[in-house]
Amino acid sequence: MIIPGKKRGVKAWKCDVCGAVFKGDTPPETCPVCGKGPEHFIEVTIEEIDFSSSADLKFVIIGGGIAGLTAADEIRKRNSVAGIEIISDEDVVCYNRPMLTKGLLAEPESNEFYVQQPDWYGEKNIKTTLGVSVFSIDAAAKTVELSNGETREYDKLIYAAGSECNIIPIPGADKDIVQVIRKISDVHAIQARLDEIDSVAVIGGGVLGLEAGWELARAGKKVTILQNGGYVMNRQLDKAAAETLQAAAEKSGVTIITGAKTKEITDSGVMLEDGEVEAQLVIISAGTVPNVKMALDAGLKGDRFIEVDSRMRTSDPDIYAAGDCAAFTGVSYGLWNQSLDQGRIAGINAVGDDEEYEHIVPVVAFTGFGIEVFAVGDVGNGGKEYKVEEKNEPDKNIYRRLYTADGVLTGGIAINDENLGVKIMDAYKNKKDLHL
Ligand SMILES: Cc1cc2nc3c(=O)[nH]c(=O)nc-3n(C[C@H](O)[C@H](O)[C@H](O)COP(=O)(O)OP(=O)(O)OC[C@H]3O[C@@H](n4cnc5c(N)ncnc54)[C@H](O)[C@@H]3O)c2cc1C
Repeated sequence: MIIPGKKRGVKAWKCDVCGAVFKGDTPPETCPVCGKGPEHFIEVTIEEIDFSSSADLKFVIIGGGIAGLTAADEIRKRNSVAGIEIISDEDVVCYNRPMLTKGLLAEPESNEFYVQQPDWYGEKNIKTTLGVSVFSIDAAAKTVELSNGETREYDKLIYAAGSECNIIPIPGADKDIVQVIRKISDVHAIQARLDEIDSVAVIGGGVLGLEAGWELARAGKKVTILQNGGYVMNRQLDKAAAETLQAAAEKSGVTIITGAKTKEITDSGVMLEDGEVEAQLVIISAGTVPNVKMALDAGLKGDRFIEVDSRMRTSDPDIYAAGDCAAFTGVSYGLWNQSLDQGRIAGINAVGDDEEYEHIVPVVAFTGFGIEVFAVGDVGNGGKEYKVEEKNEPDKNIYRRLYTADGVLTGGIAINDENLGVKIMDAYKNKKDLHL
């Protein structure tokens, strides 16, 4: 039976830098998504539904990341009797994955590590099956097969399997010297080696590669970042902003090689087409590959991502998908807030309520090398006719740039100017005019 939900306001805190929202009476000490302090939190009221359904249904959720967790949370809020099971191949419940590169060397098992403390799942009667992977879905029988030999039946399935690190196909990529950073187990593996290593090569000059490089440099390691593109963070920055960032990195003692053509990983580092970088640890940070194979094998529509509509429905009416593995209108930003929101929408609709997803503002923030970089949207990489407005103060490492196309703000970059970053996000989201 479905009973329309009653809405109530709940106190929450919104990070004005990355837009992440956290419920509670006080703001978190630092934003677990972008690392900013409590001064960046503004109090907001979010609407919550008490609950609306008492249907005795079984919800199975594949993946215990943020999309899986928010789906489970929304289902439980609306249905206190349904069976909800999260199945994850990781050994721990959902944690703040963005912290992995930001707190690479910190002790991660802190209160802020978990999104919800492990006890919360029992209190909410949400079953967690950890350290077990789902290896197939039978959409006709509405069952999933688990790696421990068990089978689960479902009424509604939420597919939130996230993504994995992209391993570049070069010889030596499977050597012991190589590490990726996607899971807490990866961080533990790096921490275990740290005392034995002096030099690190990071393949990939995107935001995660830079974060890892910065953390390892702070730990006293000799770090070289190898970027195959012409400049670092080339998906989020323009060349001039990237050069400001690179100069700051080099001032911090980190070497960045752009246009790097990696040929092979050996036991002593990375061979390039025109040289060699010595390293005792090689971190590959070269993008992600969405975990879609099992869903495609089950007949769901998609390609690189699973296709979903605005209610996170896949081509199968009883299967929803959300997070890094899903794309709405063909778009997936691979960002935390997107996964959080898509999981929420998947749960709401799977349980029989109704809410539509709207694209988030794609914000990327990087703090390191003594500077703060903030980028929103399309900054000249989308093949449009752009107009650029800029105001820089090179002596203070301040860089401001706004991009418009057809009179509409498409994106912007603010380095060492947080206030502008917030304004760009607001103007971008609300399609407002903005000038420097
Ligand atoms: C190091 C790092 C730093 C990041 N920093 C930022 C940032 O600063 N800002 C930002 O917005 N985003 C950041 N991101 C991206 C963000 O973390 C992801 O967008 C988000 O975690 C995706 O959530 P998800 O629930 O879709 O998938 P995931 O978090 O990948 O969770 C999916 C879960 O499903 C499990 N799983 C997969 N297949 C199976 C299976 N067959 N059976 C059972 N379990 C399975 C996986 O092991 C995983 O636990 C970062 C990501 C990383 C790795």
